[in-house]
Amino acid sequence: GPVLAARRLRARYGGFVALDGVDLDVPAGWVTAVVGPNGAGKSTLFHCLAGTLRPVRGRVLLDGRDITRLPAHARTRLGVARSFQELAVFPSLTVAENVRVGAEQGRVGDPGAVERALALFGLAGPVRELPAAGLPTGTLRRVELARAYAGDPRVLLLDEPAAGLDTAEVTALARILRALAADGTALLVVEHDLDLVAGLADVVHVMAAGRIVASGPPDRVLEAA
Ligand code: ADP
Ligand code: ADP
Repeated sequence: GPVLAARRLRARYGGFVALDGVDLDVPAGWVTAVVGPNGAGKSTLFHCLAGTLRPVRGRVLLDGRDITRLPAHARTRLGVARSFQELAVFPSLTVAENVRVGAEQGRVGDPGAVERALALFGLAGPVRELPAAGLPTGTLRRVELARAYAGDPRVLLLDEPAAGLDTAEVTALARILRALAADGTALLVVEHDLDLVAGLADVVHVMAAGRIVASGPPDRVLEAA
């Protein structure tokens, strides 16, 4: 079965229904993308999966286990890692120290995980000893992703990972994310940039008004969108 799954998720802000019965599978080895217009419910779904928003109905399953009531930090410990759309690195820590924090918050420890994450995201050189404050956006984005990956996650939830990146950086990022998926990690990407999704995702789910309204391979789904 899928690593992470949503079953009939319903979420509300007061009386407003933001998720209206969402079913989603996030399988190992695949990049799964969620796209859709502003207000469709993408962020709400993301927060329900990450554990930062409690759905009013439905379930979130990790390897078949019901984690709906587990808070975010407990999910991280079990292997649900996430990135932040607004970059959330610790500015006074170095690149390597930021990545180490991710390893400490994640699944119990493979001591090589920090070095592997630094190398994978191109951060193993002198940049590793620099404080995060003042680094360019593209580098900070890689620090953030390396931090999430250093926890040896089963599933990586990425909120608009291409935000603020130039075309070359987006291409490089897509290559790294494909490699993570090929290595067996389940990836879920919530993304506005349809060009990134087209080159990255194995399967695309289109959301509108709190529901998934279309699903399929990117060439089929994005041409209709
Ligand atoms: P997306 O990420 O696709 O832009 P969101 O999940 O952010 O969509 O929002 C879905 C709907 O829920 C939107 O109509 C939005 O205005 C509403 N919404 C989101 N967050 C809140 C909130 N904290 N309080 C009230 N309404 C919210
Ligand atoms: P995102 O781009 O991740 O969807 P937004 O810019 O839509 O984020 O929302 C930023 C913050 O504002 C979030 O915490 C969201 O919950 C909140 N928010 C979004 N829409 C509304 C709304 N209609 N009423 C109240 N809060 C909202």
